[in-house]
Amino acid sequence: MRLILLGPPGAGKGTQSQRLTEKFGIVQLSTGEMLRAAVKADTTLGRQVKDIIARGELVPDDVVVKIIADRIDQPDAKNGFVLDGFPRTVAQAEALDRLLKAKGAQLDGIVELKVDEDSLLRRIETRVAESKARGEALRPDDNPDVLVQRLKAYRAQTAPLVAYYRAKNMLKTVDGMAPIPVVAAAIEQALNAGRKRPAKSGAANRKNAPARKSRAQPEASRRSAATKILRKTAALGWLTTRQPAKSGQSSKAGRKATHCGGTPEVK
Ligand code: ADP
Repeated sequence: MRLILLGPPGAGKGTQSQRLTEKFGIVQLSTGEMLRAAVKADTTLGRQVKDIIARGELVPDDVVVKIIADRIDQPDAKNGFVLDGFPRTVAQAEALDRLLKAKGAQLDGIVELKVDEDSLLRRIETRVAESKARGEALRPDDNPDVLVQRLKAYRAQTAPLVAYYRAKNMLKTVDGMAPIPVVAAAIEQALNAGRKRPAKSGAANRKNAPARKSRAQPEASRRSAATKILRKTAALGWLTTRQPAKSGQSSKAGRKATHCGGTPEVK
């Protein structure tokens, strides 16, 4: 199962991706999380993209395409993945098409989460308040000014993907304003409608999927997912390898970079 979730910042891509990983036993590939991990680990890549992210602009296509190309080659992505935050430009979508074609693979579903823009700022504010309450580090780009720029980038560079995938007859649109479980059910329905044989929800689908995580511990579940992403990202040496340490700098920082916990994120 290879899926894409499309939608503006705060649309709920991260939350819904997480549910899809559990449902289908696939991995969530969030370029935003991978880039933030690189920034946090202070890698060459992290330094390159830090200011771009803080301004709410998009990092260059070739940078994210390389990240995704390497990441989907990892063994845990063989069973499938849900892309969250990628592709974000038509050039990235074309690069993804080429990458998959070269592997003889294809996308199984592209779901657009449609949301009312006025509510996005409120959602981001709620997310910030929840992160603060949990004592987590805040995303530097989760503030009203940068959000305006992120939305601008979305409208100008990412929204054209809706037409791109619609023209290929691959796009499903779901109302992202509904409560989380309702959106999840709508996504499931949209994906089933696009498949040759409708998948039975429940046991049949869970056969190859990892055991369900307890709903009673959503935070623990998110943390463990974030840790997995960071470990996998760390497996891509170039992404998390630090610049050679200046004399006197211990390798501890480098080790820390490989295992850094990152900021679990609820999007
Ligand atoms: P959002 O909440 O805005 O969807 P993400 O976590 O997906 O945020 O991404 C955060 C930032 O990382 C973006 O504003 C952008 O600077 C960068 N980024 C993430 N994915 C991409 C991508 N596919 N192409 C370019 N830049 C990206």
